[in-house]
Amino acid sequence: MREVFGFREFRPGQGEIIASVLAGEDVLAVMPTGRGKSLCYQIPALIRPGLTLVISPLIALMRDQVLALRANGIEAASLSSADSPQDREETWQKLEQGTLRLLYLAPERLAVPGLAEKLGRSGLTMIAVDEAHCVSQWGHDFRPEYLRIRELADAAGRPQIAAFTATADAAARRDIAARLFAGPPSEFVSGFDRPNLHLAVAAKQSAFNQTRDFIKARPGQAGIVYCASRKACEDYAQRLKAEGVDAGAYHAGLDPDTRSRSQDRFVASDSMVMCATVAFGMGVDKPDVRFVVHAALPKSMEAYYQEIGRAGRDGEPADTLLLWSLGDAALRRRQIAESESDESRKAMETRRLGALIAYCEAPSCRRQSLLSYFGDTIEPCGNCDLCDDPPALIDGSVLAQKAMSAIARTGQRFGLEHLIGVLRGVKTDKITARGHDQLPTFGIGEDLSKDQWMSVFRQLFAAGAIDQPIDGYGEWLITERGKEILFGRAPIRLRPPQERRAEKVARM
Ligand code: ADP
Ligand code: ZN
Repeated sequence: MREVFGFREFRPGQGEIIASVLAGEDVLAVMPTGRGKSLCYQIPALIRPGLTLVISPLIALMRDQVLALRANGIEAASLSSADSPQDREETWQKLEQGTLRLLYLAPERLAVPGLAEKLGRSGLTMIAVDEAHCVSQWGHDFRPEYLRIRELADAAGRPQIAAFTATADAAARRDIAARLFAGPPSEFVSGFDRPNLHLAVAAKQSAFNQTRDFIKARPGQAGIVYCASRKACEDYAQRLKAEGVDAGAYHAGLDPDTRSRSQDRFVASDSMVMCATVAFGMGVDKPDVRFVVHAALPKSMEAYYQEIGRAGRDGEPADTLLLWSLGDAALRRRQIAESESDESRKAMETRRLGALIAYCEAPSCRRQSLLSYFGDTIEPCGNCDLCDDPPALIDGSVLAQKAMSAIARTGQRFGLEHLIGVLRGVKTDKITARGHDQLPTFGIGEDLSKDQWMSVFRQLFAAGAIDQPIDGYGEWLITERGKEILFGRAPIRLRPPQERRAEKVARM
């Protein structure tokens, strides 16, 4: 590592992964982008004799790596659609001579006739698979050619396989493992923790006011506010400006000129607040973004992690705030249901959204809940809203039973407004017209405010006790898990239902 790459020490995870690869194990490693996955196969490739085949869909990256390795006197080459015929001829020759240490291959080249035999003859010891999530149909980036990797490995005498990706939750890891490996691989997840980011989630009451208060408590800091729509971006930017905040808008509907000027201004400024859709941030290199606010629920846990990750890249403390409501969750679910994806994909995306919702209502340390989603485990972090101010959990059985019996007694056909009205004994026209003021449940929840009941329902939803049909109109159902709680067969612990209150935004 020191001689060839000039690095002094491993980054988290690299040492363990390299040791496992050198021990001959098949490996599946998940590490965020930019953490140094390449080193994990390059070092074993250089230490051991034989040829390492690297499969990567990123042709530009492949060429950079080949050039960098050659500059250090290492025999490396690539085969992709970008090669000239001479390049290709030369690479095949080196392969035949057995002098190559690393061969980078674009996935479409996996179909080249005779590849497995040639590789077998040139002493293939390992296949390293970059962007391994491309093998999974569930991923956002499925590449059918990746399914050939397994066939190639079988035809080339079953070399060791080491696969790397930056995005894979537990289900995706299982899928990748089944498609890529002959048996279960050793799995590693590391480097996801961003300890300098303070994590916080609040129930959405008035998204704009909550956002404004949060920003006003952080004068002179640059930050990003993620909004749900183009219109919301414009609206937020305008209203913030009216309050004296240096704000701008960024979304795909702006002409490219305006957009790039807005982005340049943000990068140069140390106090600008960008109100943006999620399109913003990808290519933006600004290490001193001090906060990220989500005024709208992200698409998934992965998306949330990516988006908050744009704050505090300089390693200095940075703040995040996610505002969420059941209405946002329902909207996201409808978007998934109405998308073009097939059924298994939709089920997957719905589960991923469910994980985010469970995170929003997590009973203890948010970072534990975030990282456990990615497969990483940590101690309670001391840098999230729940560590700052741990809620004393209560036995929630009675509250849960009241809420769910309101759902059951009204035939699982009503939305929150109605259910909470029944619980609190409010005689609306709709409630009396249906005779719901005659139910034994009517008024059994008088002691709690509407906001407090909202909090109970959110927590029940996050715990998987109640649910909404995707093609419904806002009605709530009781799940199998919910029935266990309703009939007193399973306990449930809840955070004490919260009264509407000003968010504690002035955290120092
Ligand atoms: P990934 O594939 O995970 O996105 P790369 O393998 O391209 O990341 O590495 C990202 C950057 O980190 C590269 O510039 C690489 O040289 C650098 N890097 C990797 N490992 C180390 C290390 N142990 N110390 C310092 N820099 C490293
Ligand atoms: Zn914590």
